Amino acid sequence: MVDFNCKKCGSCCHEYPFASEINFKRIPVFPSELEPLEAHADKHNIDVKFLEDVIVPDMVNEKIIVITYRIILDGENGSCPFYGRKIGCTVDAFKPLACKAYPLAQKRVDAFTRSIEIDPYCCFIEENELKVKNMDENILKEYFKKEFHNSMRLMERNKKIMLKLRMLASRGKIAYPSEVKGEKYDKWLKQWERVYIDML
Ligand code: SF4
Ligand code: SF4
Repeated sequence: MVDFNCKKCGSCCHEYPFASEINFKRIPVFPSELEPLEAHADKHNIDVKFLEDVIVPDMVNEKIIVITYRIILDGENGSCPFYGRKIGCTVDAFKPLACKAYPLAQKRVDAFTRSIEIDPYCCFIEENELKVKNMDENILKEYFKKEFHNSMRLMERNKKIMLKLRMLASRGKIAYPSEVKGEKYDKWLKQWERVYIDML
């Protein structure tokens, strides 16, 4: 197996060709990553939109806890608005952690557990015909040094967030419903104030 060497093809910065309303690319942005990205976009006149993605309704305080946003991939040919043709990512200094970890991605095992997987849609992976399923963590670490490190940071961050939510819930400071859909949920989304998990 060869060391990972990004081909700068930009495929990871574009929407899937087969994207649909329910199956689309989610590039997560933590609230702490949002501000520098927005400031950069304002300064350089980049039209970028972020949508709330992972959120938790808190029924004790009647607030929506925002865990992550996602970047709307509505640039040229479904690209991330920060993507520049031939130059690639134009926000290297503020790149979201998830982008720094790519092509390693977090796979959700259950509500509180994730594993690290290789995204088979990365051009490097396709070109080198790498077997991506169930690759040993030590091999991942060796071939994707930087990306593995960032992937672990991402995993740690997610873990800390989940632990914080559980701790707050166990102390009765917040409470989240077991199911988050339906009319009631839509009403909360419209009416409740937003808070970031870092503020709690
Ligand atoms: S922030 Fe940069 S690396 Fe991430 S999707 Fe956008 S252009 Fe690509
Ligand atoms: S898809 Fe893979 S090879 Fe292409 S730019 Fe993204 S990380 Fe690099």
